[in-house]
Amino acid sequence: MDDDARPAARLTVLSGPSGVGKDSVIELIRARSPWIKLSVSVTTRKKRDYETDGEHYHFVTRQEFQRLIDGGQLLEWAEFAGNLYGTPRAQVEGWLGQGRPVLLKIDLQGARQVRASMPDAQLIFLAPPSVEELRRRLVGRGTDDEETIRRRLAHADEELEAEKEFDRTVVNDFVERAADELVGLLGSSFLTPAQAPEH
Ligand code: 5GP
Repeated sequence: MDDDARPAARLTVLSGPSGVGKDSVIELIRARSPWIKLSVSVTTRKKRDYETDGEHYHFVTRQEFQRLIDGGQLLEWAEFAGNLYGTPRAQVEGWLGQGRPVLLKIDLQGARQVRASMPDAQLIFLAPPSVEELRRRLVGRGTDDEETIRRRLAHADEELEAEKEFDRTVVNDFVERAADELVGLLGSSFLTPAQAPEH
């Protein structure tokens, strides 16, 4: 297939309520599907113990974050549970320019901004098997203090409501199955047979 016949690269957004398991799904994709480019967001949140600066997030101060906003360097950004999160523009645009599949793990506000500014983007909602299971996962993960859990739970209802704004839903019943389904959705619209991953 020549370059003209290759489908245009489309951005895929993965969103869903806090605690649904977006990080676990992304970790599997990072390990198994290296041809998928994962955007590394900038955040003012404190680093969790298992996270690596520059791999899971770029951890910055509010002042540094503000400079990125002022310089127009973020594709989208949002405040979530008291912290700022944003997607660096240059890296994403560079990958899309090279025809690479790009996946953004962002919150609902960010997904709406991408929908408005890049209408070709594919929006995927990661849903919990049930609301009870979501609450259980949020309280049980042990990485957040009580106040943070309360804020994330309050936010979850609004985020669950938003499912209808998305192009597709993937249910995170089993993380491996959900990751496979997501990779299938990403791959199908971008890869030529020659580029398809080996299994
Ligand atoms: P966490 O603190 O659990 O890593 O992320 C909290 C929320 O922020 C999650 O819903 C996550 O998807 C979202 N998030 C992470 N990076 C970004 C980003 O660059 N932009 C936006 N809008 N949300 C993000």
